[in-house]
Amino acid sequence: MVLELAGDIDQLEAASEWMRSLDIEVSADAREIAIDETRCVDCGLCTGVCPTQALQLHPESYQLTFSRSRCIVCEQCIPACPYQAISVDL
Ligand code: SF4
Ligand code: SF4
Repeated sequence: MVLELAGDIDQLEAASEWMRSLDIEVSADAREIAIDETRCVDCGLCTGVCPTQALQLHPESYQLTFSRSRCIVCEQCIPACPYQAISVDL
């Protein structure tokens, strides 16, 4: 299960501790999606596979926008890009 938590660092740690007290294993996902803007041609193909709408085309400029806070690092967008513009930073 992927769970996004928001709040200050003390609250996040308290929430993690609470889940651990219920015998729920908790680990932070340190990976991040990176978009190479020099390769991206704003074709929008990646937006069709993104389950969280982290990748979208701007309605006016038609340029790709990436919302890091919405990304769950599922990596579905990586093979969808014909220009190899998307990668995951470990
Ligand atoms: S890794 Fe998944 S959630 Fe993140 S931008 Fe790509 S498809 Fe969307
Ligand atoms: S599929 Fe690749 S080239 Fe197309 S918008 Fe997404 S990142 Fe850019």
